[in-house]
Amino acid sequence: AEVAAADSVVVIGLGRFGQALALELMDNGTDVLGIDEREDAAQSLNGLLTHVVQADATKEEALRQLSVHEFDRAVVAIGTDIEASILVTSLLLRFGIRDIWAKAVSDPHGAILEQLGVGHVVYPEKDMGRRVAHLVRGRMQDYI
Ligand code: ATP
Repeated sequence: AEVAAADSVVVIGLGRFGQALALELMDNGTDVLGIDEREDAAQSLNGLLTHVVQADATKEEALRQLSVHEFDRAVVAIGTDIEASILVTSLLLRFGIRDIWAKAVSDPHGAILEQLGVGHVVYPEKDMGRRVAHLVRGRMQDYI
């Protein structure tokens, strides 16, 4: 598929986190295929990403039709719906996508993702809380 070039990323879940991540990737010249099951989430990014599709990413057939299995890099930006996060992540692992990043909303959620074999599990709230603590202390050199 045209979007599945070398320097492209599929972002699944276009909530606040996924949306900001997808737009930042686009800003830096990376092609992005964005997927969200909510029509309004998909529509609000229409024209801003390389491709935006409304689809339920827990459905293997839907992902295959979008050539998601051909991507080298994927981000699972679904949090609250832990079941969906786990189902989508296991599909991506089964596709053999090498570089998978997944957002965790809790330590148990993150532990499951790590057990599945996700290379990069990120904890946005926790990480940002830590970073802001360094800012609050006025220690800019700690802000990494
Ligand atoms: P954020 O903090 O980034 O706004 P959130 O944790 O409040 O995220 P989530 O439940 O993580 O919200 O969902 C993020 C996005 O993922 C939502 O826009 C939601 O529609 C989408 N999403 C959830 N389940 C699926 C799914 N099965 N397929 C596609 N998109 C999904």
